[in-house]
Amino acid sequence: MIRSKLPPTVYADYQASTPLDQRIANNLTIYFSEQLGNPHANDHAMGWAAAEKLEAAYRRVASALRCDADEIIFTSGATEANNLAVIGLACAAPTSRKRILVSAAEHKSVLAAADAARRYGCTVELIPVDARGAVRPDKLAERLDDDVLLVSVMAVNNEIGTRQPLSQIVELSKAVGAVVHTDASQALADRELHLDGLGVHALSLSGHKIYGPQGIGVCFVRRDVQARVAPLLVGGGQQGGLRAGTVPVALCRAFADSVDMMVGSAAATERKRIAGIRNRFAAEMLACPGVELNGPPLEERHPGNCNLRFTGCDGKDILTRLQPRLAAATGSSCTSGVTEPSHVLTAIGLSLSEAESSIRFSFGRYSTEQDVDVAIELLKVVLTDIGLIQLVA
Ligand code: PMP
Repeated sequence: MIRSKLPPTVYADYQASTPLDQRIANNLTIYFSEQLGNPHANDHAMGWAAAEKLEAAYRRVASALRCDADEIIFTSGATEANNLAVIGLACAAPTSRKRILVSAAEHKSVLAAADAARRYGCTVELIPVDARGAVRPDKLAERLDDDVLLVSVMAVNNEIGTRQPLSQIVELSKAVGAVVHTDASQALADRELHLDGLGVHALSLSGHKIYGPQGIGVCFVRRDVQARVAPLLVGGGQQGGLRAGTVPVALCRAFADSVDMMVGSAAATERKRIAGIRNRFAAEMLACPGVELNGPPLEERHPGNCNLRFTGCDGKDILTRLQPRLAAATGSSCTSGVTEPSHVLTAIGLSLSEAESSIRFSFGRYSTEQDVDVAIELLKVVLTDIGLIQLVA
């Protein structure tokens, strides 16, 4: 009873997980109730019907991304897709190509996968990023040679929203015959992805970053590279042998719905609206003394991202004080019970204490101007309590 009287939480953590779109939630109920057979059961009509629905999902995703349906591999999410691209390639790499280059600002699932690739004799080099979080093509070029197996650079950063110069990265890497993978988990919220022009060999997506369900994602693997990728999951040989296991038809259909909603003019209008909301929040907060922006200028980043630094304060403490009214994130991660400040913020040159004083706010489809006003009000109260700003009555 008391709970229902509390004002709802303002959700500003879209880059961690987007709420499931209600239309997709409704579709999912239908998809699950229609899901009768195993799509790989080819002895009966119910299996064929399930396979048809699954094929349609492949085709819809492929058409939105402008690739071929047999280049799409459904996974459990972007973590698995990143693992498949990085470890799968490493497993099957010839002895003459064992170097893996990854940007210092990658998601942990790419960094850890690259680290695991050492088991297969690979070496890993971190490409530094500049103060905006972008890989400098000249720094990448210095390291490229014909012994580089893979270059993995994310399309859009999840903490500070940086867009990477992908076309230059592709051009340079291809010149030495390296495979290019990009973790594009955050990218569809920023722009459409057209694989026919992008030039990457592999790309990862996640359903729950695009208003789809958690537990489903995609690894695009270009047809000419597929033979060079070893599966992580073996068994019934599904998905061209690249990822065994019964493909979850209902989740794949919902993933196709979510991708569809990220392309076209309505999606473009939505991105502009979200950027407007984010800009309003940023302008108000950056007017407070001691509040600074981390990462690239707002107009050069993911439309929903705003990563702020509260000088001399502890980001975690601020967020704890805001509970349960405002959901946002520090970039810190907890490894074996020890909290480490964000590796992305330290990679762009912030000190440990600056990284610890930072919070990522991220907005999306359901964010409203009223949310922003409430968030600002809540933050100002906490910042006053901890002495960063003085509220003038
Ligand atoms: N890469 C990036 C850039 C992400 O933001 C995330 C989610 N935090 C992941 C990978 C992992 O995605 P999933 O949760 O689908 O495994």
